[in-house]
Amino acid sequence: MAKIVVLRGDGIGPEVIEEGLKVLKASARRYGIPLEFQEALLGGVAIDATGDPLPAETLRCCTEADAILLGAVGGTKWDTLPAEIRPERGLLRLRQALQLYANLRPVRLFPSLLEASPLKREVIEGTDLIIFRELIGGLYYGTPRGIEKHGEDERAVDTLSYTTTEIVRIARLAFHAAAGRRKKVTSVDKANVLISSQLWRRTLLQVAEDFPEISLEHMLVDNCAMQLIHNPRQFDVIVTENMFGDILSDEAAVISGSIGLIPSASLGAARGLYEPIHGTAPNIVGTGRANPIGTVLSAALLLRHSLKHEAAAAAIEAAVEGVLAQGYRTPDLKQPGTQVIGTQQMGDRIAHAVETA
Ligand code: NAD
Repeated sequence: MAKIVVLRGDGIGPEVIEEGLKVLKASARRYGIPLEFQEALLGGVAIDATGDPLPAETLRCCTEADAILLGAVGGTKWDTLPAEIRPERGLLRLRQALQLYANLRPVRLFPSLLEASPLKREVIEGTDLIIFRELIGGLYYGTPRGIEKHGEDERAVDTLSYTTTEIVRIARLAFHAAAGRRKKVTSVDKANVLISSQLWRRTLLQVAEDFPEISLEHMLVDNCAMQLIHNPRQFDVIVTENMFGDILSDEAAVISGSIGLIPSASLGAARGLYEPIHGTAPNIVGTGRANPIGTVLSAALLLRHSLKHEAAAAAIEAAVEGVLAQGYRTPDLKQPGTQVIGTQQMGDRIAHAVETA
């Protein structure tokens, strides 16, 4: 029996998780996968209940789980709290405690959504890339960090540091993934300016020696931001550090039509954490407008990477593609000639498609 910890989080988190679970359970029934679920608190809801965005009980459940499914955390209600006890800090602490050093964000186009992208069809058609973002190093974790007073003036410090060990482990994952794909790795850095990027680039070159069949190219992050919208088809596997990956993966998400479509998997030594890449979308909470597909596809990644159940994962992905091909859309993907449905109906239709395939 695989144990799945469910962290609904804040804002639209609970709404999209409800649909993700609906589809995950449908797939588990269809393929006879025994699953056991346990709910725990993370983020703003955890602050309200316990004063801590990552309560000890949540961390304990997560360390005992086979996999974790997360909605999203954060919201204006907690924006004035000190940085160390804000909802997002709970998520950062969880990633670090579980040593989830690799965040995988696949960007795949659904043929029926080609017109939903803000980019032209001829630019995006055929795009199929995956971003490997380093998740527990770099600017978001480096020390020292903080604000010092200098008389009237203040000085804020963040630290960007990487060790060879941190770079090698994410690089190896990216090369292994490329070996099963189109055999190209694009390493994104800012080696013309940053010392940490120079170590990053040198280390990537060393790792590449173990993968002679893979072609490695280096790209500066500013050029990559441009190339992603100019010619996204050129990319197969992108590997990059934490902050560059955070920004580029949101940019890449837009190619597909909506941020609500993109799943992610955070992997490390043991268990994985799966979440859509979007946030808590305070502007649409409770309206039934949230697109649950990013969470549904995160559940598919959970089946693939943590439970090693490729057929069940692929069935979910095919069901999403099928429902979109039938013309059903959540409001973020609305287009002439399509039928707009709400969060729950989208979950129902995908779950039904999984069970009847
Ligand atoms: P956001 O992703 O929540 O929203 C950006 C825009 O995308 C909004 O217009 C929103 O309505 C839309 N959107 C997002 N998800 C959608 C979905 N599933 N369906 C339809 N539309 C969707 O980003 P933001 O507004 O910058 O942040 C809001 C809050 O979320 C902040 O508190 C932020 O810290 C938090 N956040 C959390 C995570 C996380 O938990 N991993 C990630 C990003 C942001």
